[in-house]
Amino acid sequence: MKTALITGASRGIGAAIARLLAKKHYKVIITCAQDENSLLNVRDEINKEATNKETSLCEAYVCDMGDYTAVTKLFDKLPEIDVLINNAGISYFGLLSDMSYEDWRRVMSANLDSLFNTCKAAIGPMVRKKEGKIINISSVWGSAGSSLEVAYSTSKGGINAFTKALAKELAPSNIQVNAIAPGMIDTAMNACLTEEDVASIIEEIPADRIGRPEEVAELCLKILEAPAYMTGQIISIDGGWV
Ligand code: NDP
Repeated sequence: MKTALITGASRGIGAAIARLLAKKHYKVIITCAQDENSLLNVRDEINKEATNKETSLCEAYVCDMGDYTAVTKLFDKLPEIDVLINNAGISYFGLLSDMSYEDWRRVMSANLDSLFNTCKAAIGPMVRKKEGKIINISSVWGSAGSSLEVAYSTSKGGINAFTKALAKELAPSNIQVNAIAPGMIDTAMNACLTEEDVASIIEEIPADRIGRPEEVAELCLKILEAPAYMTGQIISIDGGWV
């Protein structure tokens, strides 16, 4: 059984990925930084669904993935990771000129430092086994840039460059590193938008709707099942939007 670590899986896209990979018989390890109740609910739901009741398919840990020391300690407790899904992330809406340094750091820590922290800890055993897969959840704004989301777009652009560079570094070890760049997906991250905001965004989306977390999870699974020759790619899922 392969083990997958999915960061930021107490809800939204991360939870959808965890549910799908568990259905496909991965052992899944899930994290979040704050909402422990929701995280444990996802864990319990997955374990209830498990067909082999002797195997706990899901383990859950509260851990801020942007905190290097905390992530290092977490990895000391974990089995070797075959699949790493770097999904944890936060958004920030507002003019750059109004943004505090602390908020800038919060976005960079959750969205970008987290990739350094998890990859540094996960890669060693993958290199030794000459096998492993890393998928980073980016955003369409990582290449297009979004007004009022300069920090978020910067962090996601960083994820794209990180993905391409690390893919080159790890291809000789048969480790594939790819990223998914979603457009607008129906999760709590967009809860701050009004119905009118959402309607006007949908007008710009050729598919005429926003995406579902389960669709991102399906793409994630497809990438895990793709030929090993596919690495260093940023794959959009945005209904033709950007
Ligand atoms: P949600 O806000 O619904 O979920 C985010 C998850 O990440 C939660 O489980 C949250 O848990 C966790 N999280 C946040 N910060 C940390 C941290 N420092 N350490 C560990 N866990 C953390 O968002 P989505 O599901 O929408 O987003 C998932 C990913 O998809 C993000 O990277 C986001 O940028 C990306 N994305 C989302 C899009 C969308 O339209 N929804 C579009 C493009 C990309 P807790 O709050 O308990 O810490």
